[in-house]
Amino acid sequence: MSDDEAADFARREAAALLGVALAPEAVSASHRGRFVQSQPASIIGAGERRTSARAAIRAVPGVAVVGAWLAGTGLAQVIPDARDEADRMRRALLWE
Ligand SMILES: Cc1cc2nc3c(=O)[nH]c(=O)nc-3n(C[C@H](O)[C@H](O)[C@H](O)COP(=O)(O)OP(=O)(O)OC[C@H]3O[C@@H](n4cnc5c(N)ncnc54)[C@H](O)[C@@H]3O)c2cc1C
Repeated sequence: MSDDEAADFARREAAALLGVALAPEAVSASHRGRFVQSQPASIIGAGERRTSARAAIRAVPGVAVVGAWLAGTGLAQVIPDARDEADRMRRALLWE
């Protein structure tokens, strides 16, 4: 799709989602953003790579790393992992 086609598709989807008529003139501006997702946690070898990266990171005092590249794609992976990592860093700073 061209950017204009994508914007018009989004307008029609928004109208369907919201249950209201949205004429083309109702769109005052549009922006098309592209995202590259991290690879899913289930990909072959991801577990070993994550374990190895975590071991290397934890060998360096005072360093914590979070994000989908390490935890796996999706908020259910990223948020608990980030909490655990922040807690690990907090404990290390306070008690070790
Ligand atoms: C379109 C889309 C829809 C999604 N829908 C869902 C969903 O419904 N449910 C779900 O669970 N997950 C969804 N995801 C996946 C989820 O958003 C990601 O897995 C999660 O946000 C990854 O978190 P992150 O902290 O690793 O990265 P991000 O949330 O991408 O955060 C990275 C941050 O770093 C910043 N940054 C990047 N480079 C630099 C730099 N050089 N200097 C400073 N800052 C920088 C970025 O601006 C960004 O704020 C979706 C993802 C996309 C793209």
